[in-house]
Amino acid sequence: MDTELSDIKGHVVVVMAPMGSGKGTIIANTLKNHPDVYQTVSCTSRAMRPGEIDGHQYHFVTKEEFDHKISTGDFLEWAEFAGNKYGTLKSEILPKLAEGKLVLVEIELQGVEQLLKLLPRDHMTITYIEAGGWEVLRARAEARAPISEEELSARHTRFLIEQSSKPMADVIIDNSAGMETSFKQFDHVIEEAYKKCN
Ligand code: 5GP
Repeated sequence: MDTELSDIKGHVVVVMAPMGSGKGTIIANTLKNHPDVYQTVSCTSRAMRPGEIDGHQYHFVTKEEFDHKISTGDFLEWAEFAGNKYGTLKSEILPKLAEGKLVLVEIELQGVEQLLKLLPRDHMTITYIEAGGWEVLRARAEARAPISEEELSARHTRFLIEQSSKPMADVIIDNSAGMETSFKQFDHVIEEAYKKCN
């Protein structure tokens, strides 16, 4: 194991969820209740979406910058997803884990598979947010804004990939049961994870 990973005292809570699941709202609620949880800011080569701010949702970098960071070993994990690269910088996560912090990471399946090889299993809780089936997510996307058949088909493919990560989860939060229930369930995940920090 990497020497940098040998003295981990903290705990990683991974959140995986399909797009449109309400993941952002659930995480925001928990961060409000638990301000000492550290949410990592990943790097991505994807374009910024309207409303996003560099350094908040992501560190937005060019494809070349991302590849350079790969070559210099800056990432603890990284993956290509839907044509873009995403990665967690070692500098974002390792110092926090060494301090004994609870760290929250929002990553996709390939990243989780890498973390499972790097981190002791008892230092990681994998959460999946269930948002109902494709029909529910499709109806939600269509209600939000006009959406082309092509975009819907791309979203469906993405949903199938995202949903395939569900069997890896230690905890499944059913967000079709209502936000308040999800808030409580995710708060409980965080409280249990605190007990595992030392
Ligand atoms: P989006 O483009 O919608 O923000 O994110 C696409 C996917 O990339 C989501 O499933 C998100 O969780 C994942 N993702 C975001 N940051 C990272 C990261 O640092 N590493 C990995 N492996 N996946 C990430």
